[in-house]
Amino acid sequence: MTYLDRFAPPVDPPLVAYCAHCGGEIYAGDEVKRVDDGGGFVCHNYGTDCATRYAEERVFDAIGTINIRGEID
Ligand SMILES: [Zn+2]
Repeated sequence: MTYLDRFAPPVDPPLVAYCAHCGGEIYAGDEVKRVDDGGGFVCHNYGTDCATRYAEERVFDAIGTINIRGEID
């Protein structure tokens, strides 16, 4: 059993990475997703889904309505 000193200052978890999307600090114990091509991580940023935005910026290069020629106007 670990003895906890309630008067000791709180210990912050170690900083282990920075989010590949927002640049935010990622601490040990944080929920993340790993990027397959670079080995980086994206954070689980509450209210701003870094994983979704990071992926969308790399998969899609245009958005709009497709025309009869198969092009986006
Ligand atoms: Zn992030």
